[in-house]
Amino acid sequence: MRVRNKPWSKDKIAEHPEVLIPNPENYKGKWRELFGNDHPLHLEVGAGKGQFILGMARQYPLINFIGIEIEESIIVSALEKWLEEPQPNVLLLHKNAQHITEFFAEHELDEMYLNFSDPWPKRRHEKRRLTYAEFLKSYKAILKSKGKLNLKTDNQGLFEYSLESFSKHGLQLEQISLNLHASDYTENVRTEYEEKFSKKGHCIYRCEAVFLQ
Ligand code: SAH
Repeated sequence: MRVRNKPWSKDKIAEHPEVLIPNPENYKGKWRELFGNDHPLHLEVGAGKGQFILGMARQYPLINFIGIEIEESIIVSALEKWLEEPQPNVLLLHKNAQHITEFFAEHELDEMYLNFSDPWPKRRHEKRRLTYAEFLKSYKAILKSKGKLNLKTDNQGLFEYSLESFSKHGLQLEQISLNLHASDYTENVRTEYEEKFSKKGHCIYRCEAVFLQ
């Protein structure tokens, strides 16, 4: 994702703690209390500019969504979109997903989404891929038993790597599409990258994987 320098991002983020939660560790195990209901809790890792999570929240008002994004100048765009149309079932975290087990209690989440994650194609960068073993371990800890991981990408290398990594680490593949936009999956909400890459003619790959225990 293109990162523009936005010196005002920090202030803007600090001004909206009602949606961009400054100390998520304080809510570990208490996200449902914060939302004020016991609806299912879904997390998107690498939420970018927020189009997907805000679209999902609109489509599924009885699900609570949290988006985590590491880049300040990117999450500020998600914040701006939220401010244009505040949605009570969305919260945002400006954090590194490497630390998610500090923000969520064991089995607190129902589903997770990884959309167009950075592919890190070089072998020596494998550990940075969001479907690397260590990340899967942390997702397993915070997802409920049989919790689902949803993945979309246009990157064949990352897709193949992820399918293999899921199979090696106890996830069962439930749905696989090699051309999402030609499939009968009609409830799809497009991300920013998904729009950009499909316009360029790339196929979109998608899978759903479930932690078996
Ligand atoms: N999901 C969006 C953005 C995809 S680009 C879309 O589909 O349009 C991948 C995003 O993941 C970038 O915004 C990047 O900053 C973010 N990201 C990468 N590593 C991350 C990490 N460890 N924690 C949180 N966000 C991360």
